[in-house]
Amino acid sequence: MTEIISSSDVVIVGAGIAGLSAARALSRAGVQVTVLEARDRVGGRMRSVNRGSGAIDLGATWFWPNESLVQSLLHECGLQVFPQEAAGDTLYIKKEGRIFRLPNDLVSSPSYRFAGGAQALPTAMASDLPPGGLRLNSPVHRIVVDADAVAVESTTGTVTARKVILAIPPPLALEAIAFIPQLPKALDHIAGQTAVWMGDMVKAVAIYERPFWREQGLSGFVFSEAGPFRELHDHSTAGDRVPAIFGFASATAMTGFDSSAIREAMIQQLVGLFGYEAAHPLEVISANWAAERYTSPRQWRSAPTTATYGHSAFREEGRDARIFWASTETADAFSGHIEGAIRAGLHAAAAVRQAND
Ligand SMILES: Cc1cc2nc3c(=O)[nH]c(=O)nc-3n(C[C@H](O)[C@H](O)[C@H](O)COP(=O)(O)OP(=O)(O)OC[C@H]3O[C@@H](n4cnc5c(N)ncnc54)[C@H](O)[C@@H]3O)c2cc1C
Repeated sequence: MTEIISSSDVVIVGAGIAGLSAARALSRAGVQVTVLEARDRVGGRMRSVNRGSGAIDLGATWFWPNESLVQSLLHECGLQVFPQEAAGDTLYIKKEGRIFRLPNDLVSSPSYRFAGGAQALPTAMASDLPPGGLRLNSPVHRIVVDADAVAVESTTGTVTARKVILAIPPPLALEAIAFIPQLPKALDHIAGQTAVWMGDMVKAVAIYERPFWREQGLSGFVFSEAGPFRELHDHSTAGDRVPAIFGFASATAMTGFDSSAIREAMIQQLVGLFGYEAAHPLEVISANWAAERYTSPRQWRSAPTTATYGHSAFREEGRDARIFWASTETADAFSGHIEGAIRAGLHAAAAVRQAND
């Protein structure tokens, strides 16, 4: 047992956008929060890296016009947005490799991007927390619940609190955290089979000197049955300061690929699509989200499913509850999206405040 280092009203496990949304709502209501984050950064699946004067997104990229919570937060935090570049034709690749050029960007629905990268939003939210409210490098491994309190144990110590919010993907919570007493059987079963949204994705971004595909009248949007990257999009940063294209591939299809093999596969596919101008990117950056231990569990108990997203078991806290759930997978609408994560965080914050002390 690690030494008890502090106490708080509420402990939040995970400083992704769900955990930070809960923390923001609670601390604004005068509730003392401590957010424990496993990684050395906030944002979880909202992860951006700076290149020159642009921010490249290795996780979430877009939000949509019907997602009002994202837009309110962006407004509150004073962050800029820009529309996803979509002008030009789409390429559709059949399984056997035949390429069809379809007029206009047929499949993309209008979407918007974060000018400073998606991670700028959780970063801004974290900077608004009261001093000491966030602890990085603190993976939680045990939660002990008794009638009056919870003890949340991480590698940097134990925090005692009245309540705990689990703002991490449900199957990861089960794998990484020992619950004492155990969670109710039905909830444990549902959480264990809940898929991590985009947890099986490899995202690769190729950065170029020029957005040469646009000169060919192409939008950069590609839908490929042949793969390995199944979906590609223009990923040039705001104002086209850093021209780029990104692709999604299933991590299962890329088993055994390290970052240099991912780079080679990406370049090869881009040359097949756009010609030899694609052969010499300035850089290819990638993230394999299946290999991220603080996103995806190492082992699955059963085939992961999205059918349990927003399951009422995640939101039936009861007035005497000590444990609350808040990742995007638990949201009752927009689950999987950033919007869903904010929604789940706000729900958990409200449920905590309504519950008995
Ligand atoms: C490649 C990719 C592309 C995506 N594209 C989009 C998009 O375009 N638009 C969109 O809306 N959504 C998109 N998403 C989904 C979006 O990123 C998520 O819905 C959202 O970021 C989830 O937030 P969250 O807070 O629920 O979870 P996470 O972001 O997963 O946050 C969980 C946090 O908990 C931490 N943690 C994990 N285990 C522990 C532990 N034991 N102790 C303490 N901390 C722990 C993690 O490090 C992490 O910071 C994408 C996701 C990926 C991976």
